Amino acid sequence: MAKKENKPKAKKQASSKKSPVAKKSSVKTSKKSPKSVKYTYLFGKKTDGDAKMRNLLGGKGANLAEMARIGLPVPPGFTITTEVCAYFYANGKKYPTALAASVKEGVASVEKQMGKLFGDASDPLLFSVRSGARESMPGMMDTILNLGLNDQTVEGLAAKTSNPRFAYDCYRRFIQMYGDVVMGVQARTEAETEPFHEVMEGLKKEVGAVLDTDLDVENLKELVSRYKALIKERTGKQFPQDVYEQLWGAIGAVFDSWMNERAIIYRQKYGIPADWGTAVNVQTMVFGNKGETSATGVAFTRDPANGENVFYGEYLINAQGEDVVAGVRTPHKIAMLSKEMPKAYKELLAIRSKLERHFRDMQDFEFTIEENKLYMLQTRNGKRTGLSAVRIAVEMNKERLMDEKTAVGKIPAESISSLLVPVFDPAAVKKAKPIAKGLNAGPGAATGKVVFSAAMAELENSKGSKTILCREETSPEDLRGMIASEGILTSRGGVSSHAALVARQMGKVCVCGASSIHVDYAKHLMSVGDIVVKEGDYISIDGTTGEIFLGEIPTVDSEVVRVLNGKMKPAKSYTYQLFETVMKWADKYRKLGIRTNADSPAQAKSALLLGAEGIGLCRTEHMFFEGDRIDSMRRMILASDTAERKAALAELLPYQRSDFEGIFKAMDGHPVTIRLLDPPLHEFLPHDSAARNALAEKLGVSSEFVAERCNALKEQNPMLGHRGCRLGNSYPEITEMQARAIFEAVAKVMKGRKPVKVMPEVMVPLVGFVQELKFQVAIIHRVAAEVMKEKGVKFSYMVGTMIEIPRGAITADEIAEVADFFSFGTNDLTQTGLGMSRDDSGSFLGKYKELDILAKNPFASIDQAGIGQLVKIGVEKGRGVKPKLKIGVCGEHGGDPESIRFFNDVGLNYVSCSPPRVPVARLAAAQAAI
Ligand code: PEP
Ligand code: MG
Repeated sequence: MAKKENKPKAKKQASSKKSPVAKKSSVKTSKKSPKSVKYTYLFGKKTDGDAKMRNLLGGKGANLAEMARIGLPVPPGFTITTEVCAYFYANGKKYPTALAASVKEGVASVEKQMGKLFGDASDPLLFSVRSGARESMPGMMDTILNLGLNDQTVEGLAAKTSNPRFAYDCYRRFIQMYGDVVMGVQARTEAETEPFHEVMEGLKKEVGAVLDTDLDVENLKELVSRYKALIKERTGKQFPQDVYEQLWGAIGAVFDSWMNERAIIYRQKYGIPADWGTAVNVQTMVFGNKGETSATGVAFTRDPANGENVFYGEYLINAQGEDVVAGVRTPHKIAMLSKEMPKAYKELLAIRSKLERHFRDMQDFEFTIEENKLYMLQTRNGKRTGLSAVRIAVEMNKERLMDEKTAVGKIPAESISSLLVPVFDPAAVKKAKPIAKGLNAGPGAATGKVVFSAAMAELENSKGSKTILCREETSPEDLRGMIASEGILTSRGGVSSHAALVARQMGKVCVCGASSIHVDYAKHLMSVGDIVVKEGDYISIDGTTGEIFLGEIPTVDSEVVRVLNGKMKPAKSYTYQLFETVMKWADKYRKLGIRTNADSPAQAKSALLLGAEGIGLCRTEHMFFEGDRIDSMRRMILASDTAERKAALAELLPYQRSDFEGIFKAMDGHPVTIRLLDPPLHEFLPHDSAARNALAEKLGVSSEFVAERCNALKEQNPMLGHRGCRLGNSYPEITEMQARAIFEAVAKVMKGRKPVKVMPEVMVPLVGFVQELKFQVAIIHRVAAEVMKEKGVKFSYMVGTMIEIPRGAITADEIAEVADFFSFGTNDLTQTGLGMSRDDSGSFLGKYKELDILAKNPFASIDQAGIGQLVKIGVEKGRGVKPKLKIGVCGEHGGDPESIRFFNDVGLNYVSCSPPRVPVARLAAAQAAI
């Protein structure tokens, strides 16, 4: 797996690229009418759009058009473009003037195809109105079904279908959805139940009905009139009878929902820009709730949880649209349909394979069966777990549905880490008895305190506690809590319920539909039989088996990690084989080298197993966190003169040398970059008087002395203070000791019983002035020569620098004259370049993301338009002087896929990241190169 590091690109190439600019994330402010005059696109017998038009038509609209094109049974309709959404927000929620005519034409075209009229009192055409952004945002925006029903048309529908109960059931559903979504009749407090639900429950009680289906047509008529009264009471307005008024109300509500809180949170989490906007799909209603020959369902062409090539999905007989996704009733597995509706099942199987062959990816689709006739309502690339993303890509490549490069691109780099996540300790879980079982909706093992609300999950998370969020069913309002929790448990809903979909996408452990669990929100507890679990008690859930256990169960390494550690045979683990295939592909296509940030032999070994090709950053100060070493380190820091400092350094030397030996041996010939001491002093000094007293006792000095020295060393801005090369320049003996430790270790391992070739790269931190580096380089060369002479060996080494303050980047040409290599310290470069503290920006970054000032945390993902440009300047200036200058990055950004793409594009040789991120970085680097 040895791999060359990215060759420096010719200067011309690096600089000729357009400067990468961060995605804009606020709604466009153009007040002009959308560029394209076409506001609506038809699908059905006549189809204007296709799958390639997702930016304009949204994912749903584009794929409805594509399905219609390939002859799948799609109820006809039309899509209002995302450009109209942008116009809507830029113009005080007004539409372009010509939209009204365009919508009318769309309706007329559908009327013609269906042979029915919108608003016709004898045989009405009804519509669904749904959102559909470029990227799917499941459940985040609003939908209206059965639109076009009013007091007259409901009678027409009843007569035409000879099924008044069905007609009134549709009508009451429509009023409820419309009242909620368009007219805003909702619970006013968290404690209040949903008002329509309350009215319905009240009526059910009065008439002695248990299920909704127990209500007869007269009851439903009564319900309709109570719903209308509720709307009048709450809003002062009548429920609209004019079908076009209904349609415009629904269109406006869908556009409005692009800016609702949950959609905003979702976009922030997944980096979806606000200016994309949503399209609106107006589509002929088909009915899955016309009795026992009708059904509605959701299916995946492969298992989205583990990627297996099986038809996977669920459906409900006699149900409508959102019933399956909302988890209202627990649905049947799709295989049952082969018995209940064999003809429709056979058709679905054919559609399954047609979809995969056409879209060349796993599809997640919705269908409705109306009186035994099958309709396709949507298809999209299915959301999947990390494991299934890997399995599907590998298997689809084997099945020749996609080539290697496409397969690499189909696996979100992040998802590879889910193959490495811990599972329950097998011995511990054997002893544990499950108290309940649900559906295995999001794999992995999680343990934590039970919480029953999103707010509680966030609160516990802020205190550093792990939680399992337990809900009857989740709704998009729970999103914040789901983000804050380790795992999600629900007592209702199927594998395609909101909880399951969202958890899978987030890579969270999820068990859903555990129906034996009774959740009591009011009492803050849940029970299974007579077992009671209170809020704050620990439980453990296994999202791979669906089991739920009382108490905390320790977790252990995943299969992949066990194979890597030699504890399991590769042949025994299919997951490992998948992992290996993808990693081989990644290494074949990537140009960037992948190194790791490691400060100990154990970390180095684990990174090597995960594919690291060297150490890009060994922070020497971290080596002193262990055992009593911190005392010598502190003694050195507190020293009041050179003699004292030298004495403390002499104590540190043997530790340091043996640490380096260990690391060199572990790295077995791979390059190792060792950074000289860079301790922002506040991280190393005792903070309170008790700790100071303890240190005084250990060092054999008075507490007053320690207190006095600590005060003398106290800095207002330690991050901008006496650290980095400033230390080595004011106290050259520190650099001397470290250089000696490094080179003596090199000499030792070279001459050891099992000689190891070492090529150390000594790195000087926080250089802003070339002279700072020159002083350090001189010391390092002198010590190297001394050690070679003393030990009678010859070795080669490099001396380079971190580029981590803006002046270093801007004067990189001067610095490159002296440096053998550069490594961008993007943590400090971000801190100093943005003037934002690495340690304190948590207090405002959240708000900044909300305000769309920042799309992402710049300490996690490189600010390409700002800090990224400093990197680019540094690369260009450095390579201007030394065209072959080796350049890497060792800030946290080295493990972030989006930043990796940027580093690839500016021509770095390698990225260095924490050991667990190494596989993610390998894959991301390949994707960047492809
Ligand atoms: C950096 O600043 O990016 C870096 C890697 O150094 P440290 O995080 O140790 O300051
Ligand atoms: Mg730094």
